[in-house]
Parts: sequence; structure tokens; C-alpha cells
Amino acid sequence: MASKGHQVVPSAPMVIKDDPTLMFTNAGMNPWKGIILGNDPIKYPRVADSQKCLRVSGKHNDLEEVGHDTYHHTMFEMLGNWSFGDYFKEGAIDFAWEYIVDVLKIDPKNLYATVFEGSKEEGLGRDDEAAAVWAKHLPADHILNGNKHDNFWEMGDTGPCGPCSEIHVDSRSEEEKAQVPGRELVNKDHPQVIEIWNIVFMQFNRKADGSLEPLAKKVIDTGMGFERLVRTIQGKQSNYDTDVFQPMLAKIGELCHCEYGKDEKTDVAMRVIADHIRTIAFAITDGQLPSNEKAGYVIRRILRRAVRYGYTFLGMREAFLYKLVPQLIADMGEAYPELVKQEAQITPVIKSEEEAFLRTLDKGITLLDKLMADAKQAGKTEISGVDVFTLKDTYGFPLDLTELILRENGFTTNEEEYNKALEHQKEMGRSANKQDLGDWNVLREGDTEFVGYDELEVETQILRYRQVSQKGKSFYQVVLSKTPFYAEMGGEVGDTGHLQFDNLSFAILDTKRENGLPVHIMTELPEDVNATFIAKVDAERRQAIACNHSATHIIHYALRQVLGEHVEQKGSFVSPDSLRFDFSHFQKVTPEELRKVEQLANDLIRRDMPLEESRHTPIAKAKEMGAMALFGEKYGDDVRVIKYGPSIELCGGCHVSSTGRIGSVRIIMETSVAAGIRRIEAVTAAKADKIYYEMQDTMRNLQAALNNAPDLLQAIHKTIEENAGLKKQAEELFKEKAEMFCKELIAHAINYKDIRLVRVDGEYNPEMIRTGLTLLRNHVGDEPLAILGATSWQGKPMIFVFLSQALVARGLNAGAMVKSAAKLIQGGGGGQPWMATAGGRDVSGLNAAMEEMQAAL
Ligand code: ATP
Ligand code: MG
Repeated sequence: MASKGHQVVPSAPMVIKDDPTLMFTNAGMNPWKGIILGNDPIKYPRVADSQKCLRVSGKHNDLEEVGHDTYHHTMFEMLGNWSFGDYFKEGAIDFAWEYIVDVLKIDPKNLYATVFEGSKEEGLGRDDEAAAVWAKHLPADHILNGNKHDNFWEMGDTGPCGPCSEIHVDSRSEEEKAQVPGRELVNKDHPQVIEIWNIVFMQFNRKADGSLEPLAKKVIDTGMGFERLVRTIQGKQSNYDTDVFQPMLAKIGELCHCEYGKDEKTDVAMRVIADHIRTIAFAITDGQLPSNEKAGYVIRRILRRAVRYGYTFLGMREAFLYKLVPQLIADMGEAYPELVKQEAQITPVIKSEEEAFLRTLDKGITLLDKLMADAKQAGKTEISGVDVFTLKDTYGFPLDLTELILRENGFTTNEEEYNKALEHQKEMGRSANKQDLGDWNVLREGDTEFVGYDELEVETQILRYRQVSQKGKSFYQVVLSKTPFYAEMGGEVGDTGHLQFDNLSFAILDTKRENGLPVHIMTELPEDVNATFIAKVDAERRQAIACNHSATHIIHYALRQVLGEHVEQKGSFVSPDSLRFDFSHFQKVTPEELRKVEQLANDLIRRDMPLEESRHTPIAKAKEMGAMALFGEKYGDDVRVIKYGPSIELCGGCHVSSTGRIGSVRIIMETSVAAGIRRIEAVTAAKADKIYYEMQDTMRNLQAALNNAPDLLQAIHKTIEENAGLKKQAEELFKEKAEMFCKELIAHAINYKDIRLVRVDGEYNPEMIRTGLTLLRNHVGDEPLAILGATSWQGKPMIFVFLSQALVARGLNAGAMVKSAAKLIQGGGGGQPWMATAGGRDVSGLNAAMEEMQAAL
């Protein structure tokens, strides 16, 4: 591709941090979206790359296929070439042909090409232009028409789109080909007749009303799955039979004591694991940890799918995925050095996730056992669909595992109930997330100029705006010709402020980034949208944000000094109130270390180092300067370098003009976010003072509470000691009182049969009775003594029985007596043969209980 004038660039990260519409790169074109939409300038008209893609959520979701078939992966490498307003259909098809037939020597008799057949509803005819180019290379019966589903590509509901041509390969045996011609199997989900390359001709823009308009600059976007290509070149019938996957499958076989190719069930599980370990490791490397929301949850689910296949089909009851990381690094580390660098990070994260999920599985199985036991007792063989849904939804226990276990034990579940519960939950999710986007009202052509690094107030005009409704609320998205508003990115929140016109002022509530463009969020628009406005950022809030952002860099630097070079940024969040910084480190940061970090940071702040900013540094140069890059940058962009003395970072955020303006920084918390990742929260400037004042107030109040004792700590220790002494005294007094009370009771004993009997009623503190009876045991001799109680305390009934040794020896049992009589006061209890108590709810049963106990003597 380089020989055809393409600029070859490295893969962009697979994890997308700053696009609300997409969590992961799912096609080679994602990193070029800005250029395709016309928002970013075209730097190179021809580009080629190999892009890490993930298809497990949203529009492209192949997850359920993966492992069961042999040609869909969760993560795969998409080879692509682009033309931005340069060559179009003919150039793209000719290049593709030359590459796979002349360079890679794939036999053309096995190749088929599809072209868009046209669509009446869209008012589009067949793509004869593409067909004519294919006719140069392929016989007519190898050029097939395809429908809108397969041969018309769209980026989303709106935006660039156009017809496409796919190249399919027939890899069946000669006999099979003789029986059924390949052309009949194209796009029919046949595992040996598969698509390898899609060439998209973007020539339209889809508007919100569904209509198409021609695109000013036509774009070629091609995508070829590397794994499918390798399989074709190596003459294999499965992606997993190539050298891309074979070493990993061998490793899995070794760990799980199984062999690939012996049994379809274990083969599926081995494929799932071989595929998923790539996704999991690359996602973590790109900065996406497993978690329970959004993109993190997608990764967690993939990891759990791998664990579960291992659990169910390979009998793996202990964590094992993490042991595959070294093999993955041996296979892919050379092409993706970031994987090697992050090994120490990836491994413990995977291990602890696996262990947590294995515990979930154990717990789920216990719950399921109980559900089955209950059903059995009730004489049923059906488990409620709601319970099954709860198992999955609340406990994360996989549905197919539930079904399997139920089936194995002769149970069924009510699918209708299950679907209802699922539908209900989906409905709730849908209404919460549904967003209605209006068409852009374009007032002026042109691009936004961001001036917010230098200015907080500028004259500007509205370029375009649209109305958006979500959750029953409606607001406007507004794009300005010039803006000082920083749009949320890289963990820094967006600016707020106003759009002013004469003496009218319209609030800007937030600034978000969409396809690289700053979009201002407003609930009210000025009447005259064509006027010239002053856009004014809330300067005080921005200053607070800048303090926190610059302090984040300083803390990052200080952490590396104090803890070591292994500290790497894993995420951050910067708001006007505080800053949060996540970084790799394997144990808790000790209070002494934290103190050192804080001291070093404050020292750097006091040195009042000026901001040295360079806005357009080529990425290579920035790295040479020693700048720390976060999550890997997208190639091709010049980067912005932010330097304060020894701290050098690639960063697009807002910063203070010199560190002194931060005032001071205070770390207020240090916690763990995931295995091997710690989080620091800190405050700066006035907020740091506030923390100090709060501590000062606490001290003053303490001092006042302790009569202004000069040595606070000593005074507190003294108070604690005194308190302990008093508590002990009180306990002794209580015991004495209780003992006396019980002795008194005995004095009132009557004769009943041959027993000395004490009947106690009235209101007594149960604690005192229990303590007293326990102590009394030492004072009662050989006599046959029984104390029966039916008392109450604060409206609650209580019964008790005390028996002397002589009575216990006769076979009487206080525990049994109380247990039986407790029913009469609607309660329960028990104890030992010589003493037992019970509480209850019904005071009116006390007399009956007393009689029953006495009758038992
Ligand atoms: P299919 O119909 O086989 O799922 P697709 O139409 O989804 O393919 P495109 O979106 O056109 O594929 O992607 C371009 C190329 O990327 C495909 O020709 C194929 O080689 C590769 N590809 C797509 N999805 C996957 C996947 N899940 N795993 C591996 N390669 C894939
Ligand atoms: Mg697909």
C-alpha cells in the first residue's frame, strides 16, 4: 500500500474514550470519522493501516457467533486503505485485486465480488460503475448482486454512507464446488464461503429525515479481516487452524488437559477462550478495565463468557485465563509492544476478575440448588421465570448455565415469565436512553475555531444548531464559529458559561465533544440566531478546573518519584471541585508515601514553575522529550505538550499559567479501584484551604469538649481509661443487684410436690434475670429447686425456667419446657437443661405458659 502512495499508520486504540456514540473501535474507519464527516482536515489523502477492532456491542455484535463458528472474532485486526477525495471505485477495486491476486497469489477462480443491486425505496439504481470495474477482473458469473442489507454501508442512523462491494472466497474442496457452485453460497452463512474484504464507496450523507444527499468529498473505506485473510493464504478451513491461533490453542490444551480437534464441544470452548483472551488483554492494555458499567461491563461479560466455557466444558474450577497472557505476548507482543509493557498490569486484573466470577458461579449454583429443592418440595418441576431472571440479572449467573443445570436435573422454567421480566427491564432502559436528534440547522458553513487556551471571552456566531430530546427533556446542541469553551475530554469536564447578546444572556450548561467538535449544550436559544454574540466562559470555575488539572500532572510526576517508574496513569477525572487520578501500583500507598507525594507536589507548586506549552509537536518528538502519553494517541495528529519543570505530558486540557496559582494540593483519599490500580483523590486552591479549616474546627471543638486540655491526646487517653473503669464498676454493681434479686426470689419459694418452687411474674429487665440466674447456680445446693418465670418488660413477654442440679438429674429439661411453652406467647427460645429463656409477642399468653411449665415439673 505504501508503494501506491498510501501513508501507513499504526492502529489507533481499540478503546474509545471520547465518543459518546461508540465504546470500542468496531471498524477500521472509526479513527477517520472526523475526516470523513469533514470536521478534521485531510492530512494524507491516502492512508493504510491495520486497526484493532472489537465487535461485541451496538451495531456490530458478533459475540454469540464467536467460538461456535470459525470466522467471527470478538477482537480482530482490520486491514484497510482509505482515499479521502482521491481515487474512487476503479482505483479501490484495482488495488484490491492486484493485492490479493498478484501479490498474495489467491486463486481468482475462488473469488466472488458483490455489487449493490439498487433500491427502489432509496431511488438508487444498481451500482453499474463498480460492476464494470469488476468485469475487468472477474467473469460475469463471479459478479453477484447484493441487497441493501449486505451491500449498502451506513455509519449510523445518519451520516456518510454508500454502496459497497465485498470480496468472498470459496475454500471448499473441488468435489463440493462441483456439486454446488460457489455463487449460490455467497452471503448464505456458509462457513467455507466467507467474506474477506469489504470495499465501501461513501458517496452520500444520510440526513435525519432519512433522505440522501451527495457527499462533497467521496471516500473509499476498505476493511479486510486479517485472520480470514491468513486462513485463505494458508489454505485452511478455519481461522483457528492458522498460525494466528494454533500456539494459543496448544497452550489452552496444556492448561486444561484437552486437545483441539477431538470433540466439537470442547473445541468450541477452546476457540472461545483463544479468542476472548485477546480481547480481554488488549482492552485492559488500552485502558479499559472490566467493571460493572458501560464499556467496562462489556469487557467483564466477555471475560465471564470465557470463564464459563472453561467451567462448563473444560471442567476448569480455578482461575486459568491469566496464565495465557505469556502465550499471547509471545504471539502478538512483537506487533503490539504495549502488550509487553503492560503484562504486570494485565495479569492480576484478569486473575482477580476470574476469581470473583468463580465465586459468583458457586453462589449461583447454591441459589439454584435451593430453588430446585423448594420446587421439589412443592411438587413442581417448573422454576419461576422471574427467579431465573433474577439469578442472571442480580447475581450475574449466566442464563444458559441455569438452563443447562435445570435440564440436567429434570426441571424447566417458565419462558414467558422470563421474557416478560426481560422485556420490562429493556423497556425501562430504552425509555431512559432514547435520544431524538433533530437535523442540524446550518446557518453558516465553516469550522469551529477553539480559542479557549488563550481566551475566555470572544465574539462569535452560531454555525449550526439542532434540537435533541432525551428522557422527556429537550435541549439544543450549538456549534459556534469561535469558542473559548473547552469540550469535555481526557477526564476534564466541559466548560459552562453564557452566550451574550446586548444585555441578554443565555446559559451554556455544558460543552461536549462530538466527532471532535465542541458542542455547546443550551436549553434556550436567542431569538435571533444569526446575531453576533459574546461567548463567555465561567472564569472562576475554569480556573478551579485548571488548578486541578495541572495538579494532576504534578501528582503524576510526584508519584513516579516516590513510588517508582511503574506508576502509569490509568484514568483521571478533573472537575472544579476535586481531582481523581488512577494509576498502576501493586499495593496500598502508605501514609508516609502519601505524605511524601503531597510534600513533593506542594514543593513543585511553590516553585511557581511557568507553563511551557507547545501546541503542535509531532508525536515522535514529544516522546523524545520524555512526554508521558496516555492510552496511546491516534496517529497523524500533532500533539500538545504541557510542561511544568520536570513534568512533561501530552495533554489537551486546560492549565494554569504557572504552578504557584494552584496554591496547594491536599490528598484526601487513597483507595483501590481494581487489581493493581490505585486511586488518589485530591483538592487544590481554596478547596485545599477548606479542608484545613475543617480540620482546624474539629480540633477546636475537641479541645473545647475536653475543657481546653493543653495535651489533647493525653486528655483523650485519660477519658478512655476513666470510662473503662466506670464501665467495669457499673457491670459489677449490676451483677450484685441481679444476684440479690434472685436470692430474694428463693426466699419466697413454696412447696409443690416434693419441689421447692418459685413462680415469678411482674415486670423485670430480662438482662437482669439472665445474669442473676446464671450467678445463682453457684449458690444452690442439692435441694430440688425450680424457678419459673412469666414476666414482661416494656410490653414484651418473656418466660424462663431455672432448675437445680437435683432436678436436672431427674431428667427434667429447662430447654424443652421453655421451647414448648414459648408457643403460648408466640415466641421461641431455648437454652440448656438447667436454664432456658424465651421472648415472645403475645403478653396475654403468659399465664397459660406459666401453667404449662409448672405442669411439666
Ligand atoms: P460478516 O457478514 O462475515 O459478519 P461483515 O459484513 O460484518 O462480515 P464488514 O463489516 O464488511 O464485515 O467488515 C469488513 C471485513 O472485516 C470482513 O470482510 C471480514 O473480513 C472482517 N470481519 C468482520 N467481522 C469480523 C469478525 N467478527 N471477526 C473477524 N473478522 C471480521
Ligand atoms: Mg458481521
